[in-house]
Amino acid sequence: MNYVEFFEQLGKDDIPIAGGKGANLGELTNAGIPVPPGFVITAETYRKFVTKTEIIDKINELLNNLDINDTNKLRAVSDEIKQLIKETPIPDDIQRIIIEAYNALCVKTEDDVTVAVRSSATAEDLPDASFAGQQDTFLNIKGIDDVLENVRSCWASLFEARAIFYREENDFDHSRVYIAVVIQQMVNSEKAGVMFTVNPSTGEEQMLIEGAWGLGEGVVSGTVTPDTCVYDKESDKEASYIINTKKTMFKKDEKTGKTIETEVPDDLKDKRVISEEELKKLTQLGRRIEKHYKKPQDTEWGIENDNVYMLQSRPITTLKNIKEVKSETIERNIILEGLGASPGTVAGTVKIINDIDELDKIKDGDILVTTMTTPDMVPAMKRANGIVTNEGGVTCHAAIISRELGIPCVSGTGKATTTLKENSIVTIDGKKGLVFEGGEVAKESQEEANQIAQNVQIATEPLLTVTDVKVNVSMPEAAQRAYETQADGVGLLRTEHMMLATGVHPNKYIEDGREDELIQVLVDNILKVVDLFYPKTVWYRTLDAPTDEFKTLEGGESEPDEANPMLGWRGIRRELDQPEILKAEFKAVKKLLEQGYTNLGIMLPLLQAPEELKRAKELAREVGLIPHKDIDFGMMVETPASAIIIEDFIAEGLDFVSFGTNDLTQYTLALDRNNELVSKHYTESHPAIIKLLVHVIEKCNEAGVKTSICGQAGSKPEIAEKLVEAGITSLSANTDAVATIRRLVAKIEKKIVLDAARKQ
Ligand code: PEP
Ligand code: MG
Repeated sequence: MNYVEFFEQLGKDDIPIAGGKGANLGELTNAGIPVPPGFVITAETYRKFVTKTEIIDKINELLNNLDINDTNKLRAVSDEIKQLIKETPIPDDIQRIIIEAYNALCVKTEDDVTVAVRSSATAEDLPDASFAGQQDTFLNIKGIDDVLENVRSCWASLFEARAIFYREENDFDHSRVYIAVVIQQMVNSEKAGVMFTVNPSTGEEQMLIEGAWGLGEGVVSGTVTPDTCVYDKESDKEASYIINTKKTMFKKDEKTGKTIETEVPDDLKDKRVISEEELKKLTQLGRRIEKHYKKPQDTEWGIENDNVYMLQSRPITTLKNIKEVKSETIERNIILEGLGASPGTVAGTVKIINDIDELDKIKDGDILVTTMTTPDMVPAMKRANGIVTNEGGVTCHAAIISRELGIPCVSGTGKATTTLKENSIVTIDGKKGLVFEGGEVAKESQEEANQIAQNVQIATEPLLTVTDVKVNVSMPEAAQRAYETQADGVGLLRTEHMMLATGVHPNKYIEDGREDELIQVLVDNILKVVDLFYPKTVWYRTLDAPTDEFKTLEGGESEPDEANPMLGWRGIRRELDQPEILKAEFKAVKKLLEQGYTNLGIMLPLLQAPEELKRAKELAREVGLIPHKDIDFGMMVETPASAIIIEDFIAEGLDFVSFGTNDLTQYTLALDRNNELVSKHYTESHPAIIKLLVHVIEKCNEAGVKTSICGQAGSKPEIAEKLVEAGITSLSANTDAVATIRRLVAKIEKKIVLDAARKQ
């Protein structure tokens, strides 16, 4: 095996050699796509480095019998290993080959080429080991000495305290994880932009190309209004080209090598960016990439010295499939109407679940029909193609879990279990909330269907927005999908599913003297999310356990029977009555914080009085977790009371608030969110709710408290717009809505800047 492989020698199957990043760059290069040149220092090189220098023995010795729960020891061992790797000279034969490769890259490009140095982890038997190793990137590296130093920094990143902790927690052998390092020329584009190989809004066979002066950041972040070109694929001609005024541009500062934003020279501001010749080159590349991947692509490009480079390519969507299904459904017979609870159109065989013992009936691709889903049904929900329920609104269990799994769902139909016929074929439209007779059952497995749904997600580039766009996570096992939206963090990590999935009531753990076990369940679950998202912030919401949902658990028999659980013993009020559960949660958070997961924050649900916040903080201190010092402490705004007297909560001390509009709506409008009989009146756009939201944002902005939204309303364009205009700090949307909300936010921000400029 070679120490170094140039991109030309790699393809998508070379992950064990080059890690995911390296293998994909190889795939694009070999498809004849001009990507900035580079090479990969293979995983084998890292292995040779640690064995030849014999530091592997020392590393193993240090890791042997390491108690990862002893934070100080873990940190000390991590530092010692990293130092050891950074200080150990690279053996001559390995060093020589890296120098030769860098020199070869310089010959191909320029003297002392500026490169990016990126780690690309890989593990035996696993396609992607990014979870088990850290992913570091060092930009603008110039000269072989700096390259070699940063290669060792990438190798060392395999032994960050968090990475060691994660591998130990998951019984993952340290010696089976390797790390490859990508060295790639940095492109200093004179002009750059994005290109969609089909029209992303209509699915028509037109390419949509946007371009502006300087580096791509301007277009991607939305700070520059780029030129826009529509290119007709059939006639191979430019259909339209709009020249916009480009005020600023991003470029590399020659002195510092850093990216800076400067004014566009006057003669370029209103000048056409993409010449006809460049357009030809770009669209030809677009066709080739689309052909290679056999799917419409969303790409990023840059042009330097007349060379066109493709910097990024990912699938857009299954626009075509969506269109076909739509036209078919027009002629179909609607047999049932409900609420659009999770988007997507899918067909399958109806299986009615009246009793939990019948879950085995659900085979891959079926439509699960039931009164209301429960946590026990999650494994069957994962197998299903779609879900239809009698009860529930758009924030019920079925809706939340379906959206997170990417499965279409129609809720609140009132009579699905009696109207739909067992074993009949139906098509469901989870956006409009309709069920049609018949349909063509997709041949792809649910996994493939999920993949398609996921592609829709990652369709749009992660625009840089001032307002952060985060994602909600309810099931740690679905966190990967959420992560792939490239959200700016997790604005809501729910605890309920983690607890329900154990089958044991949290209070039972406490009563049985098994608090340690409860803490471990929480640590294991939260870890999956904080590790994946590190260093992006994850707001862990403490348990909000409604009595009706927790009744089915072992130990849940003693849950009280409540006439209206939504107005009952749940949220913080319940946690303060059962403080041992809340303390166990705080202990779990403390444990993770000590392992270096400083990206955690705590969020309390359903508060109505500042005393509740005060008492919760006291309990945190009792377990040695100091609010505002060790960790950010925030609250959900879910009761009208808390919104109206938000100043009193701020006075008590808050780092952030997040609107739980699912609850805020039901409490403001006096509508049970799970009752389909009143769901037609359930609207988060009600002026009273908007008034409460804007009031809280204003008061929090005055006090420097961050504001966010994690209720379903944050995924609705019309409400998101009002919130961004009011000055909200972040929005946290469902996995399926992150990309759309991100685009919308970018647009609103642009509009705000433009309006302000016009007023001047
Ligand atoms: C909310 O109430 O808006 C919220 C996000 O919390 P949950 O849906 O878990 O009650
Ligand atoms: Mg809530």
